[in-house]
Amino acid sequence: GPLGETLLRVRSVSRAFGGVKALNDVSFEVRRGEILGLIGPNGSGKSTLINACSGTVAVEGTIELGGDRIDNRPPWTIHGHGVARIFQNVRLWESMTVLENVMVAYRAPLGQLGSREAHSRSAAHEALTGMGVGHLAHRRAGDLSFGQSRLVEMARAVVNKPRLLLLDEPAAGLRGGLILELSQILQHLRSQGMSILVVEHRIKLVMSMCDRIVVLNLGDKIADGTPAQVMDMPAVIEAYLGE
Ligand code: ADP
Ligand code: MG
Repeated sequence: GPLGETLLRVRSVSRAFGGVKALNDVSFEVRRGEILGLIGPNGSGKSTLINACSGTVAVEGTIELGGDRIDNRPPWTIHGHGVARIFQNVRLWESMTVLENVMVAYRAPLGQLGSREAHSRSAAHEALTGMGVGHLAHRRAGDLSFGQSRLVEMARAVVNKPRLLLLDEPAAGLRGGLILELSQILQHLRSQGMSILVVEHRIKLVMSMCDRIVVLNLGDKIADGTPAQVMDMPAVIEAYLGE
């Protein structure tokens, strides 16, 4: 579909863990070719929302991707709809090469001709080059620095050209130069029409890279708008000062 059209539609999503309301009737949309920032104090429900969108947490309410229901579907089904994510604690296969790590994530489209090996190899090279780490393709993954591993995980997430990329604090643990690089990579993916839903707590980074922002506080959506609009809202300032 065209840029700007709704890709992900989250409607009245709620989730409780025991007595804790992690998400309370949250609704918002992610448009095609947009970076949507998800912010909020610790424990406000950001990861739960990302997990609901990738199929690892069950919720009430509905989540649609391009008009198809994806709520409460298994992760592999949602991945098949074009949703990819990187996990905070899932590592690369250390004894495999960087290239192999990305190749194993490749899924051949139905009816693709030619060898899967050749297609996955070229898709993996393309994804690694897009992340600026093509030169590391033949290194052993276990020998990479933390920052390099993050970029390879990103390459693995985009190797199938997802429509929506879910990122839960992708800059965590990265140093300044690499944070800037990551932000530029996200802008580049957006320019190719990918939509990105990103949890990030560095306000300056969120302000500079996101088209719109959704703010959660204690499971409630308290604001939704452009960075400038959101940062002007008393409720947002209060939630952050109250932390
Ligand atoms: P955030 O990512 O914004 O820090 P989370 O989505 O991780 O917040 O958590 C929201 C709330 O739900 C918190 O109170 C957290 O303790 C609770 N929570 C999240 N996941 C679980 C779980 N698997 N079991 C119990 N409580 C959970
Ligand atoms: Mg979290």
